[in-house]
This record gives sequence, structure tokens and C-alpha cells, in this order.
Amino acid sequence: MSRTRSALITGITGQDGAYLAKLLLEKGYRVHGVFARRTADTRWRLRYLGIDQDVRLIDGDIIDVSSLVRAMQKAEPDEVYNLAAQSFVSTSWEQPLLTTEVTAKAVNGVLEAIRLTNPKVRFYQASSSEMFGKVREPVQSETTPFYPRSPYGVAKVFGHWITINYRESFGMHCSSGILFNHESPLRGLEFVTRKVTDAVARIKLGRQKELRLGNLDVKRDWGYAGDYVQAMWLMLQQDEPGDYVVATGRSTSVRDMCRLAFDHVGLDYEKFVVVDPNFLRPAEVDVLLGNSARAKEKLGWQPTTDLETLMRMMVDADMARVARE
Ligand code: NDP
Ligand code: GDP
Repeated sequence: MSRTRSALITGITGQDGAYLAKLLLEKGYRVHGVFARRTADTRWRLRYLGIDQDVRLIDGDIIDVSSLVRAMQKAEPDEVYNLAAQSFVSTSWEQPLLTTEVTAKAVNGVLEAIRLTNPKVRFYQASSSEMFGKVREPVQSETTPFYPRSPYGVAKVFGHWITINYRESFGMHCSSGILFNHESPLRGLEFVTRKVTDAVARIKLGRQKELRLGNLDVKRDWGYAGDYVQAMWLMLQQDEPGDYVVATGRSTSVRDMCRLAFDHVGLDYEKFVVVDPNFLRPAEVDVLLGNSARAKEKLGWQPTTDLETLMRMMVDADMARVARE
């Protein structure tokens, strides 16, 4: 009888970690997560998805390799998904060294923990479209050169290349998913989509008067996190490891994304959005647009959720949440 497959997720309390844990539980995996001690409650996403009692949390921190080795010994995983990061671009200018520790150097720590305990384990690295930064090509694919524009982007470039290096040096099954922005009702409130949908709900319900944002002209290729965790899993089911762009192939401005969110509750965004220079960044990524043809061809992956649907889903979830407060 074959043993139940086991997975270890770093960043299990984050947006993607929660959706991925749910997906893997549905597929019958034993799901373990590296759980960093915090004074605040970080399990709300796991509760939201109803899986809080089903995942096995292991005390650890991504920058402490000894805790990662212990997590490997406890979980005995077949697959490791490295999703933990200091993931907010703006914060990476305020805390660049911490971002380098957590988002860059710790990737090497996870790879070492795997190499020391069981190099046959399959590894997924959460790489990012922020690596393309000041884009070198109008549509970005796996072969587009990187030009990161923030300490976060620079850190992700290291994570991406060290993943490839372990694959090429030690023959390990290491894959890197270059994911474009993906959102959901579980997105952190500091990210622009969720900041907008939360504000739409608060304004509609009379709890807030305006929404202060930075650059409205930047464009992102926004998809739905629930779709994107499928691509992560598919990468680790392939005989050969590889690198894949995961994107929708459609780029929309912050302004138009706002319009969609406000429209959904019958409000005119122009009456509420105020541009505030405090939210401008020291260097900006003006436009991102991904080509995920490789993921489509080799993984059979494609997005199922367009931005209109995503915005409706997020606004509805925030309306329900704010109404309960
Ligand atoms: P989140 O910010 O929602 O989650 C980050 C996770 O990392 C949280 O679980 C957090 O734990 C954990 N973490 C942070 N520091 C540590 C640490 N020192 N030790 C252990 N865990 C830690 O990110 P997402 O889920 O949105 O993204 C997942 C990954 O994908 C990240 O690496 C991100 O950079 C990357 N990515 C995301 C994209 C997106 O659009 N969402 C696009 C491309 C890449 P805690 O809850 O305790 O703080
Ligand atoms: P990022 O692409 O990982 O940096 O994701 P974000 O959701 O944080 O930001 C997406 C884009 O929205 C960036 O180009 C920001 O400059 C822009 N943006 C404009 N106003 C805001 C704001 O108030 N908050 C955030 N987070 N981003 C904003």
C-alpha cells in the first residue's frame, strides 16, 4: 500500500499558503506548515478556509536552518513549497536587510535543509514577476532578462537563481514559478487590490469617506490566487523540474481596477479616490504583462478567473466582513 503523500509549506499562514494547503488536503496529502511564532493571530486565513484543524503546524522560522531541518525530519515531505517571504514591495525599502534575509538568503537555507535530509524531495520556489521590474520586453516570459526595481525584486532574483543552481549542481527536483500578481479575499490589506476592495466596502457601508492611493497609472497582470496554487502543484508533478511564468496575459491599470471595484456597488471611483504622494514608491514597476504559454503547454494550466470576477468576489467578501464588524 502506498503511503500518504506529505507536503511541507513555508508561509502556510499567507494567502497562497492557505489556498495551497486546502488544495493539497483535498488531494489527500498530509499537509505540514512551518509556523513562525507571533504575538498576533496569524491563523485567520486557515480558519477562513475551514482547514485550521487539518494542517499540522511545526514551530519554525525560515531564517533558522536548524528549525527547517527539524521540520523536514518531522514532516518527512515528498514536496516542499517555499512560500514564506517578506512579500510587500514597499516594506522592502524600509527593511531591505530583513527582506534579503527572509526573501533571498532563507531560500538557500530551505534548499540546504532539503539537501541535508532528503535531496530527493521536490522543491517549489515562489518567484515573482517583480524580477522583471523595468521590463526588457513588452510581454514577459521565462526567457525575459530580469531588471528588479526594489530590494524585494532583487531578493527574489537570488531565490530564483539559487533554485536553478541546486537543480543544476545536485540534480535536485527544484522548480521556480514566476508568478504575476494574484489576489483573493485572503490578500493582505496592504496590497492595492485588497486595499481598494476593503475601502469600497467601508465607503458603501458608511464607515469610510475616501481612499488614498499612490500611482494610479501603473499596470499589473492580476489573477486569482486559487488558480495560481494549482500551477505550483502541477510543477512538482512533472518528471522534470523547470521554470514557469504564471499569468493571465492581460494587464490593467490601478485606475481601471478601482473602477471595476467601485462599479460593482454602484459608486463612481472618481468621487472617492485621492492621490496621496505618501504611497508613491522610490522606484516603480510601471507595467507587467506575462506570457504563460509554457505553463499552458507543459502543465495544462490556464487561469479560470478574469479581473471582473475577481473584483466582484473580493468586494462581496469585504462587504460581508465589514458588515459583521
Ligand atoms: P503573504 O505575505 O500573504 O504570506 C507570507 C508568508 O510568509 C506568511 O505566512 C508569513 O508568516 C510567512 N513568513 C514571513 N516571514 C517569515 C519567517 N521569518 N519565517 C517563517 N515564515 C515567514 O504572501 P503570499 O501568500 O501572497 O505570497 C506567497 C509567496 O509568493 C511569497 O514568497 C511572495 O513573495 C510570492 N509571490 C506572491 C505574489 C502575489 O501576487 N501574491 C506574486 C509573486 C510572488 P506570518 O503570517 O507569520 O507573517
Ligand atoms: P506589487 O506589484 O507586488 O508591488 O503589489 P501591490 O499591490 O503592493 O502594488 C501594485 C501596484 O499598485 C504598484 O505599482 C503600486 O505602486 C500601485 N499602487 C498605487 N497605490 C497603491 C497603494 O496605495 N498601495 C499599494 N500597495 N500599491 C499601490
